[in-house]
Amino acid sequence: MPKKISIKRFSEWGIPFENVMFIAGPCSAESEEQLLQTALGLKGSAVNVLRAGIWKPRTRPGSFEGVGSEGLKWLKNAGNAINVPVTTEVATPEHVEECLKAGIDVLWIGARTTTNPFAVQAVADALKGVDVPVLVKNPINPDIELWGGALERLDRVGIKKLGAIHRGFSTYEKSKFRNQPIWRIPLEAKHRNPQLPMFCDPSHICGNRDLLFSVAQNAMDLLFDGLMLEVHIDPASALSDSKQQLTPEGYNRLLSKLKIKKISTESEDFRKHIKTLRLEIDNLDHQLLELLAKRMSNSRKIAFHKMNYDISLFQPDRFEETAKSWVKEGQGLSQDLSEEFLARLYQFIHEESLRVQEEVLSD
Ligand code: PEP
Ligand code: MN
Repeated sequence: MPKKISIKRFSEWGIPFENVMFIAGPCSAESEEQLLQTALGLKGSAVNVLRAGIWKPRTRPGSFEGVGSEGLKWLKNAGNAINVPVTTEVATPEHVEECLKAGIDVLWIGARTTTNPFAVQAVADALKGVDVPVLVKNPINPDIELWGGALERLDRVGIKKLGAIHRGFSTYEKSKFRNQPIWRIPLEAKHRNPQLPMFCDPSHICGNRDLLFSVAQNAMDLLFDGLMLEVHIDPASALSDSKQQLTPEGYNRLLSKLKIKKISTESEDFRKHIKTLRLEIDNLDHQLLELLAKRMSNSRKIAFHKMNYDISLFQPDRFEETAKSWVKEGQGLSQDLSEEFLARLYQFIHEESLRVQEEVLSD
């Protein structure tokens, strides 16, 4: 993520919304009728921007690759029919040119494009001097720097209405998600750039409409600024991403359950409870740090003995054994300590311990 980009305040983009910005619409524009009916189905719902993919980047050839430029006016008309601005994905300078000609209000850069700095630069160059909001999806691989690099390229050509979309990351692990949310990455992005509006795209994270609500709610709990959700008038007949699209009714149901969170409250009662618990947490954190410091100091002592006897720093059997019993003991202590958390934490501590021992050897 870039350290410093100048972003125009989200509320001043000229797109009306309340608290959270909702972008909804089909994965792909398929026909004039499909777009118009989907838009009309969303009339009266909380939708601030209508979306539809015009050019579709598909993993394999032979799938539906979008209707192309002809769909731009369908999208614009559908937006006009419900009086909301419209957005689509751009991946090349030609796409940018066509969109600007057609009066598309907001552009987004897709996950596959963000992975490629040449492509992002070409899109950025085509946007020089243009005052249009641009949202950048995370790259498909979990690389925060690549995401930040894309935003920086747009910043450098003068795009000030910049936002980011978290659409999950493709990993080799098997999971219930189509793309792993790995929430710490968008949170880190937000931390590095607090003024950067952060959207969540639960549709591409989940790949399945049954999981959408929990991901959307999680995004609200983490104070995301907006949601992008795929909505189709008839998801079963959709030419792309059929399983993850909602009907307009499904979209309304999801939104009616969604709890939008605020960052603070005036309630004295809330403050009182939180204060005591936070004091306790601060105290526990202090103890954790003291224990870690002691643990590292022991590792350092062990390093001297290993050095004297020419013993390798890494002891695979000992690591395997202690990692296993750490996870087992932790899970026995509390169900709030998940296996994944325990395993990662132990590995992290162990790696640091090896680094400390390495330091002793190289002194
Ligand atoms: C999309 O929004 O339809 C899309 C192709 O998304 P992504 O770039 O996140 O895969
Ligand atoms: Mn899609």
